[in-house]
Amino acid sequence: MLKEIGCLLDDNYMPTLADLGYNKEDIESISTVDPRSAMPEGYRGGETFALSRVKEYTWGSDLIQTYFDTRNNMIGPNYSTKFAPWLACGCLSPRYIARECSRYEELRVKSKSTYWVVFELLVRDYFRLFAMKHGDAIFYPSGTVKQKKEWDSNPIHFQAWRDGMTGYPLIDANMRELQATGFMSNRGRQNVCSFLAIELGLDWRLGAEYFEEVLLDYDASSNWLNWQNGAGVSLCTGGRLNRFNIVKQSKTYDKVVST
Ligand SMILES: Cc1cc2nc3c(=O)[nH]c(=O)nc-3n(C[C@H](O)[C@H](O)[C@H](O)COP(=O)(O)OP(=O)(O)OC[C@H]3O[C@@H](n4cnc5c(N)ncnc54)[C@H](O)[C@@H]3O)c2cc1C
Repeated sequence: MLKEIGCLLDDNYMPTLADLGYNKEDIESISTVDPRSAMPEGYRGGETFALSRVKEYTWGSDLIQTYFDTRNNMIGPNYSTKFAPWLACGCLSPRYIARECSRYEELRVKSKSTYWVVFELLVRDYFRLFAMKHGDAIFYPSGTVKQKKEWDSNPIHFQAWRDGMTGYPLIDANMRELQATGFMSNRGRQNVCSFLAIELGLDWRLGAEYFEEVLLDYDASSNWLNWQNGAGVSLCTGGRLNRFNIVKQSKTYDKVVST
C-alpha cells in the first residue's frame, strides 16, 4: 500500500498494465500484434510515435501523394494516414497535420491528395461543431433528423454481426479485424454500418455503442454522426438513406475474395 501511494506521488511514475490489474495472460494477448493488422507493428501511444507517423507519411515515404487514390482500400498500413487513434487521444493536433500538409505542398508537390487529407480533417471538425449544436440528439434513435423509425433489436442478428458470422465475407472480415485489432478502414466501417442498420434493420445505436467499446480511435462526434449518416437519420445528409450494396462493394473493394 505504501509503495502504491509512493508511486502515485511520483510525477514520473507510469503505472504498468500489471499495476492496473491485468493478469499475465491479458498482458501477453494485448502485447501481440496480428501481422495482418492495419498497423502490423502495432499502434504505439503518445506524441512521439504520432509525430513520427506524420513525418513518415509525408516527408519519409511521400504516401501523402497517393492518398486520394488509395483511401478507399482496406488492407495494410499505407492506404490511409492512420492518424485517427492519436487524434482521438489528443496525442496529435489536426492543426499540426494541416500545417505539415501546407509545408509539403510548398516544398514538394500540391495535389488532390494533399488537399484531401486536410479536407478529411475538416469533416472531423464539422462533426464536432455539428455535435455541439445538436447536443444529445446525436444519441437519439430518430437521429438529428428526428425521424421516427421502428428499429429491430434481434440479439442473434446483432451477435452474428458483432462476431463476424453473417456469412458475408466483406462484413465478417471487417468485423473480425475490428475485434482483433481495434481498427477498421473507413470503407469497411461504411459497409458494416449500412449492413447493420439497413440490411438487418437493427437499432443503429447498437452498432455505434459497440464501436465505442472497441475502436482505438473512438471519438464521440465522429462515431455517432457517421453512424447516423449510415442509418439515414442524420440532418447532415437531410435524412437521406445511402444503402451500400454489399455484393457490389465486395466486387469493387475486395476483389481477391469476391472473384
Ligand atoms: C460508422 C463509422 C464510424 C466511425 N467512427 C469514427 C470514430 O469513432 N473516430 C474517428 O476518428 N473516425 C471515425 N470514423 C471516420 C473514419 O472511418 C476514420 O476517421 C478513419 O477510418 C480513420 O483512419 P485514418 O486515420 O487512416 O483516416 P484517413 O482516411 O487517413 O483520414 C485522415 C483523418 O481525417 C479524419 N476523418 C476521415 N474520415 C472521417 C470521417 N468520415 N468522419 C470524421 N473524421 C474523418 C480522421 O481524423 C482521420 O484520421 C467513422 C466512420 C464510420 C463510417
